[in-house]
Amino acid sequence: MPGLHDPLMIVTDLDGSLLDHHTYSWQPAQPWLDRLKQHQIPLVICSSKTASEIIPLQQQLGISGAPFIAENGALVQLDSANGDTVRHHAGKDYSEICHCLRRLRQQYQFRFSGFADFTDKEVADITGLSVSDAALARRREASESLVWRDSEEQFSAFRDALDAEGFSLTQGGRFWHVMAKGSGKGAALAWLLQSSPAHQLQRFITVGLGDGPNDAPMLDSVDYAVVIKGHSKTPIVLSRADRLNIYETRHSGPDGWVEGLDYFIAQE
Ligand SMILES: [Mg+2]
Repeated sequence: MPGLHDPLMIVTDLDGSLLDHHTYSWQPAQPWLDRLKQHQIPLVICSSKTASEIIPLQQQLGISGAPFIAENGALVQLDSANGDTVRHHAGKDYSEICHCLRRLRQQYQFRFSGFADFTDKEVADITGLSVSDAALARRREASESLVWRDSEEQFSAFRDALDAEGFSLTQGGRFWHVMAKGSGKGAALAWLLQSSPAHQLQRFITVGLGDGPNDAPMLDSVDYAVVIKGHSKTPIVLSRADRLNIYETRHSGPDGWVEGLDYFIAQE
């Protein structure tokens, strides 16, 4: 069991994990956040949220400048504490994705609505975010989030059509996410670790926390995986076989987050 003096890195999903699914509060996790900060353990946000949403949240969490993974892995930002920002982007930008989605919708008569189709107010109504936070959620750079409103049959046709265009589809807590094929939280974390200057000096022991199917590739690639009890109907299926390094929490949201870190990290 690693302890606080080991070279740990915590990689976390936000909604339904560090943040409560409904209220977006992280209150129960505050003592752990303080502990991580005190021991200079990096906390890497790995979320479907946009960079515009993550950066102010990092400020509130007291981890400004830490590397993060946004838009479900389509965008990675390395440590920017020293002022220069290095970003990695999955290869298709937002306007290209929206253009392709509009074309497919016309061609196949698919019924779905993406963030590009919604107003800030509509996104606020669906997510429970304030209108100004919804505006930040709509400031997308490398992926589109959408609500599917058509049959399952049409959905598999949609998936095939996206695949042929070089895109993949991942399920998050509330939305489906469209991004370049080969990207995702797992690929993004691999890129982040290999590109992180700190990682060249030492290998991090990674602990990942997530509650949704879109977290599976990240949870498969960390040393210790915390599967937080979620709200999604689709269970998280991990492909790793080392059951001892996987912990499924009894609590959901930030309470489950705390439970997971308590389970894997020894506090002297
Ligand atoms: Mg989640």
